[in-house]
Amino acid sequence: MDRSQTKVLIEEVIKDLKQNNEFLEMDDLEERNKTLESAGEILKTTDKIIKSYIRVSRDGGKIERIPAYRVQHNNISGFYKGGIRFSEDVDESEVENLAILMTLKNALHGLPFGGAKGGVDINPRDYTDRELNLISKKYVQRFALNLGPTQDIPAPDLGTNERIIDWMVGEYKTIHPGQAYSGSFTGKSVENNGAKGRREATGIGTFLSYFYLLNEWFPEKRKDSEIRNEARSSQWETLEKLHTKFNEADPVDVAVQGFGNVGGVAALEAYNNAAAKHRVAAVSDQFVTLRHPEGLNVEKLLSYTRKHNRLPDTREQLQEYKIEAEVKAAKDILTMDVDVMIFAAVEDQVTKENMKDIQADVLVEGANAPVSVEADLYLQEQGKIIIPDILANAGGVHVSYLEWKQSRVTEMYSKEEILEEMGAQMRSTLKQVFGEYFLSSEHTMRFTCYSIALRRLTSLLYKHGKLF
Ligand code: NAD
Repeated sequence: MDRSQTKVLIEEVIKDLKQNNEFLEMDDLEERNKTLESAGEILKTTDKIIKSYIRVSRDGGKIERIPAYRVQHNNISGFYKGGIRFSEDVDESEVENLAILMTLKNALHGLPFGGAKGGVDINPRDYTDRELNLISKKYVQRFALNLGPTQDIPAPDLGTNERIIDWMVGEYKTIHPGQAYSGSFTGKSVENNGAKGRREATGIGTFLSYFYLLNEWFPEKRKDSEIRNEARSSQWETLEKLHTKFNEADPVDVAVQGFGNVGGVAALEAYNNAAAKHRVAAVSDQFVTLRHPEGLNVEKLLSYTRKHNRLPDTREQLQEYKIEAEVKAAKDILTMDVDVMIFAAVEDQVTKENMKDIQADVLVEGANAPVSVEADLYLQEQGKIIIPDILANAGGVHVSYLEWKQSRVTEMYSKEEILEEMGAQMRSTLKQVFGEYFLSSEHTMRFTCYSIALRRLTSLLYKHGKLF
């Protein structure tokens, strides 16, 4: 789902809100329409796009100038917040799209942050530690004026991690001596005032978004057939089928695309789930898919990946860790016959080109924007359930909020407190979205999420007097 699709969806939701007279009640209908259109215009455009070039001297002596971005989409609901990614696919359009998604995600979950995103156009695997350290420090130097605990607070994303964030905080501190620096970034290591559980939070929250639906929300609602929404009857059937499956001790088959920070943890959540049996039938990274119809040993795969920074893909590598798996091409995972597909890699994985080949019943977007708008609608018509990114992958930003808050009160929360708070906050948003989607909405779950987020953002813009 790219930037133009995100903007079109914002426009469609604003149109829909015009028909919903319970929202933003006003006597003058023309005035109300103008107010809503004005909110749409603000949210379809971006506050600030900063592009710069980072100069790096490579270990071999060569000098490179690398494009780097910070995009601040909107801060009506709080300080700008969003990750920094290191990836060869980074460009202005991608970073802007991800910044818009952050504004919507924070608004949907009621977090006191706006939306931003950063990116550096490199493949981090091609750079040495010294070069990555230099790039991280220069990123902070370039964008220093725009970052800070009460301005714009970055975090890790694709291709970055707590080590890179620690380097960035170190540089921020050097540039701003004597100033509060701990809240300037989240996703720091625990030793460097990071929050316990931040690394695992997005993966745990992603799995929770699916498991809460099947194991908590659905069992409670299925007793009352009166409340069902006809438009969602095939989705109810899908839930019924899956629920029966794991209640009869027949494991639910899960596939996870991407085996990094988000995917590795989501796979482990499925593997260790105590409440219902899951089988992790396939996992993939950018190089390979590993499959085992009786279930992969996720713990062994994680120990291999921790050491080698990628999944094993030769017979010798698999044997060294006693891993049983069939080796397939990276893309093969998308069309496998499983019940649940968790996306935890990159954008645009399911589009009109391959949507007809998707077999999973539930698609969970741990990654940002893996399913296009056309595919989302088509798959919904096939009775499938698509849990969208801004709903599913917010565990990380929930914990980032606690990390930022902890830096202001100088009090450390325990890992249990953090994950319990994150789970409670996620459940509350999940309950609201599932309630609207399954019981009354005629749209996709993504549309429902955008609608809740845009209602909050529009109300705030209105109350701040920005819509005249
Ligand atoms: P990561 O760098 O730790 O892991 C990414 C994984 O995806 C790796 O296994 C990598 O091999 C694989 N991958 C990369 N490019 C690929 C490609 N072209 N095709 C298939 N696989 C590919 O990244 P992460 O932090 O786990 O982030 C994964 C996704 O989750 C991203 O879309 C990111 O924006 C989103 N996300 C991350 C967080 C977070 O807290 N880290 C929060 C919200 C959303």
